[in-house]
Amino acid sequence: MRYKAYKYRIYPNKEQQELINKHIGCCRYVYNLCLEKKINAYKTSKKNLSMFELEKLLPSLKKEQETSFLKEVNAQSLQAAIRNLDSAYKRFFKEKKGFPKFKSKRNARQSFQIVQSTNVDFDEKKVYIPKFKKGIKCRFHRFFDGKIKTSTISRTATGKYYISILVELNDDNPEKKPIDENKAVGIDLGIKTFATLSNGEEIQNPKNLKNAIAKLKRLQRKLSKKAKGSNNREKARRVLACQYERVTNRRNDFLEKVTHQLVTTYDTICLETLSARNMMKNHHLAQALSDIAIGRFNERIEQKADWYGVNILRIGIFEPSSKMCSCGYVYRDLKLSQRIWACPNCGRRNQRDLLAANNIKSFAFNKRHNTVGTTEIHACGDMKPVRDSAQETHKHLV
Ligand SMILES: [Zn+2]
Repeated sequence: MRYKAYKYRIYPNKEQQELINKHIGCCRYVYNLCLEKKINAYKTSKKNLSMFELEKLLPSLKKEQETSFLKEVNAQSLQAAIRNLDSAYKRFFKEKKGFPKFKSKRNARQSFQIVQSTNVDFDEKKVYIPKFKKGIKCRFHRFFDGKIKTSTISRTATGKYYISILVELNDDNPEKKPIDENKAVGIDLGIKTFATLSNGEEIQNPKNLKNAIAKLKRLQRKLSKKAKGSNNREKARRVLACQYERVTNRRNDFLEKVTHQLVTTYDTICLETLSARNMMKNHHLAQALSDIAIGRFNERIEQKADWYGVNILRIGIFEPSSKMCSCGYVYRDLKLSQRIWACPNCGRRNQRDLLAANNIKSFAFNKRHNTVGTTEIHACGDMKPVRDSAQETHKHLV
């Protein structure tokens, strides 16, 4: 069984926009209320309120006058908000980081989930969701064939609306191709050059992206100079959000093209394991954006590898992939600024990114068995709904 998320822009009319906003507000309200209740229950009686206990609160909340507005929205969306909180808690306990946060209405991306069937009409160009009397106009840039599971409606900081529909596709993934070193490639991902391939090919970041990032930096500085709570600050925030959206879209287009090209060219792709711990900690904008891009690249390539029967081999993060000469010498003192280094042992001149790409491939094929920590064939499980990590981070940047 394979799942795929399809994201489309929707164009709700005034009335539908209001109802969407109501859903977003109510789901946020329920999420925050339940989070507060969970925290308090734990503080006062060391009790952990379960998802079911929280769900039981909903009917009484709807009866109370103060919170009767919850009646106006789809009950299952409210339950989904509670379920999301529950999974945020589970993630926190499992991964020991990121205690669930209260949702703010100032977050750049606001959304709610629809658990019941969403219906699409490709001819009419409309999506139908419960509680909404008429279909919502939708731009379907691609079609799908399968059963709709859940969908999420979101609103961006610039007031655009999207629906992301998770579909159980009618066809299964193709079988994985045989792992053959001749049809494999090692890839080193970086900031300056987006990707260096073991065959010497380089994939550069798109130029317009660089300019857009420069502009983003300028706007961010501008925003930081505006007085808190002022109209000018709000205006600057919107301009920045617009620009951020532009950067995100450009980058995503680029990543779609790159990943598609890679999975249709190679049968096996060797990559480094991502260290999630190092990511997102960086406050340097270029570095932060590069981390986001690399995160998304990995998400997209794994997904597409499944669709095309391509193998992904991951090597451990502790391999000194840019520091180890092909003679086996490890140059410990290599500085980040050093793009080329000469091996003191064999005299070879190593171009750092290319060396890394080649080493990643060798490690993945266990050629350097004695130095390899953890090389594993990455088994791709069922796909999760795509979470746009860039959007998530957006709220930190704005
Ligand atoms: Zn050497």
